[in-house]
Amino acid sequence: MLAFACAVLVQDTRAQAGLAGTPIDACIARALRGQTADAMFTTPRAFDCTTSQITFGPGDYWVRSSLLPADMQTPHLRARVGSLWQDALTLNILYSDGKIVTIRRSSHTISRNLELGAIVEFALPYRGKAKPVRLLWRVDGSVNIRGILIGQRLADASDSTRANLAMAAIYAAFGGLAFALLVYNLSLWWALRYRFQLAYCGMVAMLVGYAVTSSGLLAWLAPAIDNNDRMRLNYILLGSAAAAAVAFARCFFEERIFTGWLRHATRTAILILAISGPVFAIGSRIDMRIADRATSVLILTGLSVTAPILLRAWRRSSRYLWLFALAWSLPIASAAARLMNALHLIPTSFWLDNSTILALTFEALISSLAIAYRVQTLSQERDEAIAAEMRARTLADADPLTGLLNRRAFLDRFIGADGHWTLHLVDIDYFKSVNETLGHDGGDEVLRVFARTLLRAAPAGAMVSRLGGEEFAIVSRAGTKLDAETLLDQFREARMPFDLRVTASVGSCTGIVATEADWKLLYRNADRALFDAKRAGRDRARTAPPLAAAA
Ligand code: GH3
Ligand code: MG
Ligand code: MG
Repeated sequence: MLAFACAVLVQDTRAQAGLAGTPIDACIARALRGQTADAMFTTPRAFDCTTSQITFGPGDYWVRSSLLPADMQTPHLRARVGSLWQDALTLNILYSDGKIVTIRRSSHTISRNLELGAIVEFALPYRGKAKPVRLLWRVDGSVNIRGILIGQRLADASDSTRANLAMAAIYAAFGGLAFALLVYNLSLWWALRYRFQLAYCGMVAMLVGYAVTSSGLLAWLAPAIDNNDRMRLNYILLGSAAAAAVAFARCFFEERIFTGWLRHATRTAILILAISGPVFAIGSRIDMRIADRATSVLILTGLSVTAPILLRAWRRSSRYLWLFALAWSLPIASAAARLMNALHLIPTSFWLDNSTILALTFEALISSLAIAYRVQTLSQERDEAIAAEMRARTLADADPLTGLLNRRAFLDRFIGADGHWTLHLVDIDYFKSVNETLGHDGGDEVLRVFARTLLRAAPAGAMVSRLGGEEFAIVSRAGTKLDAETLLDQFREARMPFDLRVTASVGSCTGIVATEADWKLLYRNADRALFDAKRAGRDRARTAPPLAAAA
């Protein structure tokens, strides 16, 4: 885009795109029955050179040029005019030898004369010494909404080529950018599946379509297309792009922006914009002027919803408002400039001519940045939600006093594990008297010391749980180096509050835990071994025989 802007800025102003060549003055006469080009060339009195074209209304017209500049006589002259809605356009060229050459194109055949930037170009036949001196266009079935004949200019072949190249640079820059944005956002959608990404891609696709039809590129690709049908496509694609743009805003902003009436208004606006193109395409076959006005009203009505959306986004302090406002600033400015041009408040210029496509390119670019920003905030929110859930789950699974797995979480994770496991049940000896000696808080501290000792002793893959009261379980895969005697040694070495001597007894058993029944059997046997250890005098370990399945 930057390279393109530089290229345009250093261009010789005369060669600028659609404005290539020398402007020629033209005067208008309403065409009457029986008039011929010969006669019209020689009756300047019939022509009005001062009244604004639009005031003439629809109909058939003659448009007579002033004398062509003598310094522009090259073998490859071109007469260029802006493409307009009309049934036929005929160019009569008067040569210095008095001969008139006529080139006639209907809306069906004129596409072959369409250059980039939707400029209709006629090559003036070269007739040696006989030079073209005056042009006389005949416009049949002009709807005369934007004029009868606009932007008439005389250019030579190199002006015309440069104009096409400049336009090709604009559209190539837009096309390349749009292609990259489409690929990038479609692949992003493939991964993330946010609806606003699809609405965005729909909008860019419609804009690409609009660029292809409005630039006249479509006429190069399909020369057989009726030029009025090409303009019908313009309306359909621009209306759909506007609908997609509002739909994009609808999915893009936070849900809280679209509550109440604005939700319905937005939906209605999308519908109105989407049908505006088809309304025009069909209506233009019946009455072009009414269809054009109806379409303008539909599009303005549809787009009027953007103001309350932005206002609401501002009131409810949406974090995306500034990006959206920035993205839409140029299209809004461009629409305003075109309106002022239509009201003759500002003159036509190269920038005005191409402002729609430039503004929409800017909009697509900024919206893509907005999407990146939105995806970033969404993934941030998601990460925070995951972290919060993890915290909640850890809290729910933990025993609040010791931080070990509580009984429920332990059983959830343990039952169903495959392979053989050794369960060591640990029960603190005479804990009631520990409580009596140290008080309940001191007893709690003893429980925490036991928990830390168990965690330190646990090998990789083992699980430690406080099953309840002063009873703990530590499970490890059968065969892992964790024997009950070592556990007892570590309890004896652990530093207790007030250097109190606190011991524990351990009952162990090895088996499978594929089902709850397996677990109950394993637990019962380990508990029996624990009971044996207590009965034998405490501070010792007993191991039950491995369960049958484990043998
Ligand atoms: P034994 O050697 O036969 O296991 O004797 P014991 O006193 O340890 O056995 P018993 O099961 O009769 O007593 C367990 C005591 O643990 C009873 C209860 O007050 C105490 N206790 C249970 N949970 C907690 C706790 O969270 N904190 C404290 N401080 N004490 C607890
Ligand atoms: Mg006990
Ligand atoms: Mg107990």
